[in-house]
Amino acid sequence: PPSIRKISEKYDKPFVTGCLEPQVNGPRANATIVVLARNKELDGVIQSIKSMERHFNRWFNYPYVFLNDGDFNSTFKETVLNHTSGTVEWGKISPEMWGFPDWVDPAVAKEGIQKQGDAAIMYGGMESYHHMCRFYSGFFYKHELLQKYEWYWRLEPEIKYFCDITYDPFQHMIRNKKTYGFTIAVKELRETVPNIFRYASAYKRMNNLTSKGLWEMFVEKPEEKPKDLPKSDPKYKKPLPEEILNSEPGTGALPEIDPEAMEGESYNMCHFWSNFEIARLDWFRSKEYNDFFEMMDRSGGFWMERWGDAPIHSLAAGALLSPSDIHYFRDFGYRHTTIQHCPANAPAGRQLARIPFLEKTTEDEKKRIEEDEYWATPDPPKENGVGCRC
Ligand code: GDP
Ligand code: MN
Repeated sequence: PPSIRKISEKYDKPFVTGCLEPQVNGPRANATIVVLARNKELDGVIQSIKSMERHFNRWFNYPYVFLNDGDFNSTFKETVLNHTSGTVEWGKISPEMWGFPDWVDPAVAKEGIQKQGDAAIMYGGMESYHHMCRFYSGFFYKHELLQKYEWYWRLEPEIKYFCDITYDPFQHMIRNKKTYGFTIAVKELRETVPNIFRYASAYKRMNNLTSKGLWEMFVEKPEEKPKDLPKSDPKYKKPLPEEILNSEPGTGALPEIDPEAMEGESYNMCHFWSNFEIARLDWFRSKEYNDFFEMMDRSGGFWMERWGDAPIHSLAAGALLSPSDIHYFRDFGYRHTTIQHCPANAPAGRQLARIPFLEKTTEDEKKRIEEDEYWATPDPPKENGVGCRC
């Protein structure tokens, strides 16, 4: 059989190996670094900016766009300006992009959120977190300050880059015709997205989309198609219920979890961790992506469950993109709070071109991937990222 490396190189490989002399005067992409934050997160924001500047942007000077549902105060702005090499724009998010839409009954939504809080679902009881996830799922790319840009790099508070990034990832994404780039893929907490996959697969089905090869990354295991089985067979999967297909806006009537209704497919909970993203804004602005978002939104899942923007972006990619559209930034050393990806510590044979799930993996490989949480090494790095060589 062909080696894993050969198969994966067909789809994707590192843009650059080794250190380059950064092209400080080279051409720049039409791109920006996007930071969504609150005033109280200033320390975490500065930590992230220092890391971004030290390992990349001091050479490339890409501009920043800061977004907030409130107003940034002068301390926040001045401190940020003292640490950034690129220009900075400050954006306020309007209520149309943040908060409950008018077709939702806020009382119903708040009750749903409270129930998730009572059930101790992570961030489930925090209303602002639900708004944040919905904003990053369906609105950030529509913000006026992003209109002039074609590309963005998402930066969150309290992250760290371990390795110098000596090339321009945007230029390479363009040259290699990539749409979406990630550096960590992990499993979602099941209880935050019990019904997300049913809606995503309903979208796919209603639009007669056939997989371009990426969808399988998110599917637990291939099973026989329902149409091949008689209804009496215990493996026969019921079609999606009418209330999902015809769900009325604002009903928030997400049905109970019914894994039997998923056409033989269930979600393996895998998703690209979206606190790091380098992606093409055009894709988010496409009719297809927005139809997807709207259908997901209409279900009420952003309130009645706690759908994150990471599984939303990932399942949209699964439905709409092909493996060759995706780039795995396996050479970026990156840490967000407790989970990190360290290229040097990646298990032998994994540092080259491999996106899991896109390949036919052996049972043994699958097990190793599971155990690794898909390259996210949960143990913290030693101080200052020592222990992660790049
Ligand atoms: P986690 O990474 O999932 O633990 O969530 P974070 O607390 O880091 O939130 C994700 C991103 O959204 C970060 O960039 C936060 O600064 C931002 N964020 C979360 N909630 C709010 C909010 O209520 N207002 C604003 N302006 N930003 C928020
Ligand atoms: Mn975060």
